[in-house]
Amino acid sequence: MRFSAVSPYNASSKAVLPERIVIYDSTLRDGEQMPGIHFTPEQKIAIATKLDEIGVPQIEAGFPAVSDQEKRSVKAIVDLGLDAEILCLSRTLPADIDAAADCNVDMVLLFIGTSDLHMRYKLKMAREEVVRRAVTSLEYAHARGLKASLSTEDSTRSDLEFLLEVYKACENAGASRVGITDTLGCAGPEAVSYLVRKVREKTKTPISAHLHNDFGLAVVNSVAALTGGAQAIATTVGGIGERSGNLPLEQFVMALKHLYRRDLGIRTEGFMELTKMVFEYAKLPIPANQPWVGANAFSHESGIHVAAVLNCPMTYECVDPEQVGNRRRLVLGKHSGTALVKSRLDERGVIATQDQICDIVRAIKKAGEDHGRVSDDEFWKLVEGVMAKTTKNPDCS
Ligand code: MN
Repeated sequence: MRFSAVSPYNASSKAVLPERIVIYDSTLRDGEQMPGIHFTPEQKIAIATKLDEIGVPQIEAGFPAVSDQEKRSVKAIVDLGLDAEILCLSRTLPADIDAAADCNVDMVLLFIGTSDLHMRYKLKMAREEVVRRAVTSLEYAHARGLKASLSTEDSTRSDLEFLLEVYKACENAGASRVGITDTLGCAGPEAVSYLVRKVREKTKTPISAHLHNDFGLAVVNSVAALTGGAQAIATTVGGIGERSGNLPLEQFVMALKHLYRRDLGIRTEGFMELTKMVFEYAKLPIPANQPWVGANAFSHESGIHVAAVLNCPMTYECVDPEQVGNRRRLVLGKHSGTALVKSRLDERGVIATQDQICDIVRAIKKAGEDHGRVSDDEFWKLVEGVMAKTTKNPDCS
């Protein structure tokens, strides 16, 4: 009999994804914009190298106009000569574009706000001026020898007709990509898909999507963007970034690979190491329940689950932990049962009677209710205690 690791109903999904899907990872730019985070140039180089190693095709290395150090970091990453293309962010200002050109990046990602809210309270610009700035900045980037994309900030709260006018103007100016952004993470999947489809009807230029996770919908919105026809999707490692963060790289890649049967060629076994590195540099703990890379992603304590997992891991894991560089943890505690105790004793060649095993399980449950997780050391002390008690009067001859 064949068993299905993920739901067989995924196969009946009507989702049609574009032929070419490109990840442009923004851990080093939007990820670093997370309040309180600063990556040193050495750390940025290490992260970029690791992203390249696992096969991420495009890396948004930073925002050179922010500081001299930032500019040097972007330049240093370009100079590594990685397989990945190196991108950087830029306002629609000549000085920003000059900074990008000095770094010799493969593409500059221009952005300008297009929602009435942003134009009024942030840019203090009229619509006509925004279109003009988008076009002149693209022209300037091209004149400086750069490939350039233009993203409209706060796209999901922008007037659709105006948005389409901006994209059309960008296409005419030779933009390599036009970008939809859900800057506030405030659109649902249907809205994202609708917006991308509308843009696609209007232009032939490849579309990128930069999605935030404020409502926890970044992953589903990324799939919606793809089904709408977007080709390039922004991610960050572990979803770090402004506010509630961005689309998590590993969740996006795994969802496409396992639920939509689309392998992006990313070496997923490197996810754990990459996430550990980024979170360590960011001085953040990896949440225990973080999909794929959290300590609990492949942990089991319930006796019923553990007994099944010991027989066949697929009963409670649809992906092998090794696939993402994580590992299985069978945890002892209040919910433990006899199967794990038996298997632990077997590993060390300890022979116990059924009564002794039951006593050990009782002791573990009590300790678990007392203080939660039971460590390995504590487990062996409990075992010793039970065995000592029941072998007090051995047969003497
Ligand atoms: Mn962002």
